[in-house]
Amino acid sequence: MHRNRKVKILATLGPASSSPEMIEKLFMAGVDVFRINMSHTSHQLLATLYGHIRHVEAKVGRPIGVLCDLQGPKIRIGTFADKEVRIAAGDTFAFDADKTPGDVKRVYLPHPEIFAAAKTGDSLLLNDGRLRVEITDAQPDKLTTKVIFGGVLSDRKGVNLPDTVIPIPALTEKDRSDLEAAANVGADWIALSFVQRPEDVAEARKLVAGRAWVMAKIEKPSALTCLEQIMTYADGIMVARGDLGVELPIESVPARQKQITRAARRFGRPVVVATQMLESMVEEPVPTRAEVSDVATAVYEGADAVMLSAESATGKWPEKAVQTMDRVAQNVERDIHYTNIIHAQRTEPEPTVADAISAAARTIAETLKVPAIVCYTGSGPTGLRIARERPSNPVLALTPIPATARRLALAWGIHCVLVPDAQSIEEMFSRAGEIACREGFAKAGDRILISAGIPIGTPGTTNLLRVATVGKDGRAV
Ligand code: PGA
Ligand code: MN
Repeated sequence: MHRNRKVKILATLGPASSSPEMIEKLFMAGVDVFRINMSHTSHQLLATLYGHIRHVEAKVGRPIGVLCDLQGPKIRIGTFADKEVRIAAGDTFAFDADKTPGDVKRVYLPHPEIFAAAKTGDSLLLNDGRLRVEITDAQPDKLTTKVIFGGVLSDRKGVNLPDTVIPIPALTEKDRSDLEAAANVGADWIALSFVQRPEDVAEARKLVAGRAWVMAKIEKPSALTCLEQIMTYADGIMVARGDLGVELPIESVPARQKQITRAARRFGRPVVVATQMLESMVEEPVPTRAEVSDVATAVYEGADAVMLSAESATGKWPEKAVQTMDRVAQNVERDIHYTNIIHAQRTEPEPTVADAISAAARTIAETLKVPAIVCYTGSGPTGLRIARERPSNPVLALTPIPATARRLALAWGIHCVLVPDAQSIEEMFSRAGEIACREGFAKAGDRILISAGIPIGTPGTTNLLRVATVGKDGRAV
């Protein structure tokens, strides 16, 4: 089986979607990569969910990616005696160092670094920016604030301080321990939240040590000022619009989304557009027109993947949300404007053999309208460089390494298949034909395009392209 779209779907697992049955349903509905949010997942649950995903993977016979998302230095308030309070504009509300449960006047803020850094006049945004308060008095253990936009504030809600520079480490103790657990369990991708500097990604990369690919979530204004340097260290990027839309004026997020997706395309890094894509489907079985348009925009931009958060993790309609995304994506990709828009964003190949081959592969494949480009890749870079070209033809990436197949599940347009190492170049060609037929892309008599490298088994040697014809036995010569 194969998907009928290029863009991939990333769906977050949570209470609404943690059973093996639901994970299978979501895969069948279109999920290519599952996201496990370490903010809400114990190491034991991580291992359980991972096991469920691998079980489904074996059953359906398709590689499935697993992305573990580290919480990062997310700032949260403490708890309330009655779980939640309602505060109104004009009220005075305090954040302090007192651990006792909060009430309508105050709440515990377990972050001494904020008391040290926050100043009178700085804003605190609460609950994803729904509530806003302004500091009227900053003491070493208490911030007194005036409520600007009120609302309901409940246990452990997140806090953003767009005006305050907080000297926080990139990876908290929890992140380090979650990173180890994720890498050990076998995660394919590890995502870092609130990346501020390239060094943050470099540090995580060192700790991951090749066990997974590393994704930098762009959700801080400071990360936007060094996006290109971040891209040099990151294997992938996420436009994390939830926090980005709190840290920056919300109306600037669409332009930033374009900036980030285009930079990622230039660098050939898979890019995910995330958060609130089908938000109303947390409650409702149908999305709003605006949400459909939002998903469509990301697909037209050539994002590698679109993401579901609460829609699949805690919502009432996880399966419908995935089906909706899948249908929107397929419709966009069938539109005559789609190819033009995608191609208008093409960037020049880098002066490398891999890029020269990828650019040529696209030209040949599109000119001959071949039903498949089959590329052999070891650890994945060849697949990513072809994806960067965004060819109209289906791309099959054949690899002997399961981790590569799973990591590439997130990459635009790549259909990955696990194959054992070939012994000869003839075997590589003939097998490319067999697999293109078996996977439903080609049939006897079709011409396909194959990229491979000799000498066989040497990493980074993609150096030949062959137009081959599929024989009656499925083998290509
Ligand atoms: P989160 O990240 O869901 O982990 O906060 C995504 C975002 O901020 O958009
Ligand atoms: Mn976030």
